[in-house]
Amino acid sequence: MGSFEDQIRKVTPYTPGEQPKTQNVVKLNTNENPYPPAPGVTEALKNTEADTLRLYPDPTASKLVGAIADYYGVKPSRVFVGVGSDDVIAMSFLTFFNSEKPILFPDISYSFYEVWAEAFRVPYHRVPLTESFEIDPADYAADCGGIIFPNPNAPTGVALPAEQVEQIVRENQDTVVIVDEAYIDFGGESVLPLTEKYENLLVVQTFSKSRQMAGMRIGFAIGSEKLIKYLSDMKYSFNSYTMNRPSIEAGAAAVADDAYFKETCAKIIGTREWAKTEFRKRGFSFADSKANFIFVRHGSAAARDLFAKLRERNIFVRYFDQPRIDNYLRVTVGTREQMEALFSALDEILAEDERKE
Ligand code: PMP
Repeated sequence: MGSFEDQIRKVTPYTPGEQPKTQNVVKLNTNENPYPPAPGVTEALKNTEADTLRLYPDPTASKLVGAIADYYGVKPSRVFVGVGSDDVIAMSFLTFFNSEKPILFPDISYSFYEVWAEAFRVPYHRVPLTESFEIDPADYAADCGGIIFPNPNAPTGVALPAEQVEQIVRENQDTVVIVDEAYIDFGGESVLPLTEKYENLLVVQTFSKSRQMAGMRIGFAIGSEKLIKYLSDMKYSFNSYTMNRPSIEAGAAAVADDAYFKETCAKIIGTREWAKTEFRKRGFSFADSKANFIFVRHGSAAARDLFAKLRERNIFVRYFDQPRIDNYLRVTVGTREQMEALFSALDEILAEDERKE
């Protein structure tokens, strides 16, 4: 007799960055935004009466979908919303990646792609980035079951110019191409306009980074009416009420405050560019980042040691113990003050290392 366990679908889960329970940490490890959400979000949450929670939310989340559609100038029938872009992408894997041929994504990329592919039994091939950590569109001109990549890429921060993204979409019109634009608002060039031109293109974005709402869990996709219809059919075959009432209200309020959105994005970009010069001064090198993080390596100090020593000082950055990137640290761009704390800690650590030599 076999065991009941033989029939269980076993998966190796994604490991999210650490969420420390203690206060007073400098948290630069999960690409969150250091600024609060737009003031209207606080208002929207205050005005959500607990009594309304008796009732199911609008399954179409039309208020949020409408706000996103208006903001990006597309019809609501071209917008899909979900519980963070993780939910949107998971649903997209299930809906669009349904071929015997492998899907393609970069070898150094968002590690959740591999987890979804394994969980949903989607065959996949990881396409190596170039030596300089770039995506070469020519590597994606293969017969495949679909394509997904982040732009800018994570954890490298490197952005692919829109013409090159278009090349990938154009050369793969017999399959769905998903561009994960989680970090696009920090300086990359969005291919949202191309969703008018290519029916096979799905662009996914999130409120977690540039709209300061990682804790609310809101993500969305924009694509052709056809793609959005297939995605919605899958969602309604899974869970009709993915978006709860407070998320719908708070999300719509965030989109309404464009000035705040632009101002906070500009602050992050400013701090990032300043941080690049500070990293360089201290002997770090990195590919040019257009995201709210910088992926750095030091000329002599090992990333694993720097990670541990920063952690001892209550400064959290992200370290990936993976081939090709095990000597890098991914540092989220925080406030100027948080980054100053990071640099003074690095100065201490690097000076200690020098004394030991
Ligand atoms: N895509 C990429 C490339 C990411 O780094 C993240 C953040 N972990 C996500 C998607 C998912 O973000 P969220 O579910 O918070 O929208």
